[in-house]
Amino acid sequence: MFGALRFLVMLQKLYPFWRNPAEIRATQEKRLRSLLAHAVENSPYYRRRFAGLDVARCALSDLPTLSKAEMMEHYDELVTDPRLRKTDLAAFVDDPDNLGRYYLGDYSVSHTSGSQGQPALIVQDREAIYLVFAAQFARGTKLKRRFLPHLGRLINPARMAVLTVQPGFYPSASAFAYLPAFLKPAFKVLHLTVSDPMPTNIRQLEEFRPDYITGYASSLEAFGREQAENRMNLTELGCLKQITNVAEPLSDKSAAWLEQVFGAHVTDEYAMGECMALSSGCTMGRGAHINSDLAILEVVDENDQPVPPGTEGSKVLLTNLYNRVQPIIRYEIDDRVTMSAKPCACGSFLPHIERISGRSKDKLFIETEDGQRRELPYYLILTGLHHVLEMAEHQIVQTGPRHFLIRAVPVAGQKLDVERIRSVVMEQVVSEDLDRLIEVEIAVVPELPRGPSGKISRALNEYAKKKDASPPDIGPDAGRERAARAHAA
Ligand SMILES: [Zn+2]
Repeated sequence: MFGALRFLVMLQKLYPFWRNPAEIRATQEKRLRSLLAHAVENSPYYRRRFAGLDVARCALSDLPTLSKAEMMEHYDELVTDPRLRKTDLAAFVDDPDNLGRYYLGDYSVSHTSGSQGQPALIVQDREAIYLVFAAQFARGTKLKRRFLPHLGRLINPARMAVLTVQPGFYPSASAFAYLPAFLKPAFKVLHLTVSDPMPTNIRQLEEFRPDYITGYASSLEAFGREQAENRMNLTELGCLKQITNVAEPLSDKSAAWLEQVFGAHVTDEYAMGECMALSSGCTMGRGAHINSDLAILEVVDENDQPVPPGTEGSKVLLTNLYNRVQPIIRYEIDDRVTMSAKPCACGSFLPHIERISGRSKDKLFIETEDGQRRELPYYLILTGLHHVLEMAEHQIVQTGPRHFLIRAVPVAGQKLDVERIRSVVMEQVVSEDLDRLIEVEIAVVPELPRGPSGKISRALNEYAKKKDASPPDIGPDAGRERAARAHAA
């Protein structure tokens, strides 16, 4: 009961009542100073790093940046609760039975997306978890305007279908595993595994009648094709209000196609395990708004210098203003983000993200003997790799119709165990019933080749490049292009 009241107060505070951007900046400034003081007082790592700086007054840009490797190397002294140890947390997340349990009764534990190369651990207290859900409720949907409409949700709960790989400790799934019990009557979640047979998924989705669908671009497109080709009747049920794309870029063309097929608004969310409440999808247009009262996102060039809105940065520096137990301050993330130079048409004062291009990956697939291709989500293999904390970098390369090579680089001074990598990856592959369909090879290498942009491609399809003149298009136009090819032939 106390939790529920706490949540409602939090929710109420999150509604965007600001009259101007200065009010947002004031909230941000207050939370930033409080976080910095807390970090210096309770984290030996930050006390040392910020020595000689007046954290009550200095500019954010005076503070040193933090890489994922540094965070993981100094984990035990970076967190503000001395009971937390990296080795214990790693063991905790290795046991799937712990999913949704609070470590030491106080902390949720998840992996960050290893799509940044190296996996990492994130602990959050209950307050932070509540805030992630409250931000989603208050800003991520068209419902809005104070909490009274939310009380109506008890009679008519919001229904969200989440299209991902199997449940696990990766951010998008573990967040839902920590859905507070008091929210369950008001918020129903259906988890669908994209590799399950499509007819089963369609039946479940139609029975569930979701108001909201959240998923990776590739899975949204896959379901869109089922609807467009009349194998699914979700649009006809008239329940769907919004589709949210997470984790992979969705082209404007695909988004417009999905809106047309489903008759529902398509929006994007930009978040990561280090800060699940970083943004909320724009409720009118495309893109997402940074929750800049809860987090600070600096878009910078190679030398950590800010770039203006409208210009693409080389990386971003994230400061999470609500995680007090694992302070994340000016943390480097390898995403190329462009902020909008113009105010968003929806009227929000929160900064609007125009584009994210740092996460492009080749598509992976399973090809049968008759040449049929079925997409293999990169995340399926990544989910296993999350457990390998000794890994600094990785790359998944498709080398044959059903053959995949995982290249892994160890953290400096650490050894990688090929058999352990195989076992965590295969565990995931088996749970998706794909073990007879794909072969996985693992190579431990000292470093990975970088692409023309200087970035490492996390998923490469060398097989498709060799076999096709152009990489396969398994997006919304695939059917049309196949037809065109057949016609030309
Ligand atoms: Zn907007």
